[in-house]
Amino acid sequence: MPGFEVFGKEEEKEIQDVLKTGVLFRYEFANERQGVYKVRTFEEKFAAFCGTGFAQAVTSGTAALKVALAALGIGPGDEVITQSFTFVATWEAVLEVGATPVFAEVDATMNMDPRDLEKKITAKSRCIIPVHMLGAQARIKEIIAIADKHGIPVLEDTAQSAGGRLGGKHLGTFGACGTFSFDSVKTMTTGEGGMIITSDGDLWRAMSEYHDHGHDHAPNPGGRGGEKRRFVGSNYRMMEIQGAIGLAQLAKLDPVIIAAQKKNKAALKEAAAVLPGVQFREILDETGDTATHLCFFLDSAEHCQRVNKILAKAGCAATCFGANTWHYYPKWEHLIAGATVSRDGWPLTTHGKRRYIYDPAALPQSAAYIERCLGFQLPVKLSDERLAQMGEALKKAARA
Ligand SMILES: *Cc1c(COP(=O)(O)O)cnc(C)c1O
Repeated sequence: MPGFEVFGKEEEKEIQDVLKTGVLFRYEFANERQGVYKVRTFEEKFAAFCGTGFAQAVTSGTAALKVALAALGIGPGDEVITQSFTFVATWEAVLEVGATPVFAEVDATMNMDPRDLEKKITAKSRCIIPVHMLGAQARIKEIIAIADKHGIPVLEDTAQSAGGRLGGKHLGTFGACGTFSFDSVKTMTTGEGGMIITSDGDLWRAMSEYHDHGHDHAPNPGGRGGEKRRFVGSNYRMMEIQGAIGLAQLAKLDPVIIAAQKKNKAALKEAAAVLPGVQFREILDETGDTATHLCFFLDSAEHCQRVNKILAKAGCAATCFGANTWHYYPKWEHLIAGATVSRDGWPLTTHGKRRYIYDPAALPQSAAYIERCLGFQLPVKLSDERLAQMGEALKKAARA
């Protein structure tokens, strides 16, 4: 997921446009900014790139999730169903709005299993957040069909799959809205930053206002100008320099970043095929894969560890997702302990009572997949030497 690898002259040029005016802020300063509106232009181009109507830039992918949940009206008493394999930010945002995260199993796509999603729906379910993890598609059509049946909006966490598609349609455009992250490890980066896309103009206006203290954006859509507020908001405004970098990175996303990752993934996949019993992660649409990772399952967790020991010795360690404390439910010790910064444990504890107990053993199907999974992150720049070294390491590991 390496937008940082291609940071160069194009980004510098976009940043210079901002530095020349000295207007570092997305709103106001009409006389000083000489027509430069980087964040607004980035939003317009990002929405057009994804083939949708509206985009709202924010300060991070986590902020994007929070602003989207807030605009969807999610709050205390509501359950939000997401998946057992995701980055902690997905459920942090749910807790931030005071709602309760509920976790569904993942399947061979390493994303939400729609059959388990249906089992997790209760009368309190108010939102579903499938995550398009590690560059590739969740079973989003099946998930939307179930959500529609129950009248629950779907928010797609597309933080790890910018530029991904399913049947030619961009990820993030299937549900009510889709969120993106542009942090340091994502496919395109703005340093820190995030985006929410939607085709719903009213939802977009609520996001736009919420992310800017609730300022009334109606008289000047996409800008400011109103004196009143419909509701209490907060501040998640993106800076002009971030918008500038985003414009340069967006232009590189398909032709430079994803194209190179795909080529590298194909080569590495061929090399990894030597591992006995290897089963590659199910990719629903290879054409729409952003190829940020090559993931595969071996026949046991123990086999994964043996293989990875040899890979590590050869300087080519894979990620063992079963041991990964960032992305896998049983490893989120702070969530399982209900540890929050508030004195009474809010929002996991209210009035001295734990609202939801997270049992680390509650998701056996996820364990069966994740604990047998190894993955390599694909760089944009992969030298022939490095690829050959990985190939040799995999051959050695095949004898493990
Ligand atoms: C990175 C990430 C986020 C959060 O993005 P930040 O910009 O780091 O706040 C949210 N969800 C997933 C799945 C991510 O990988």
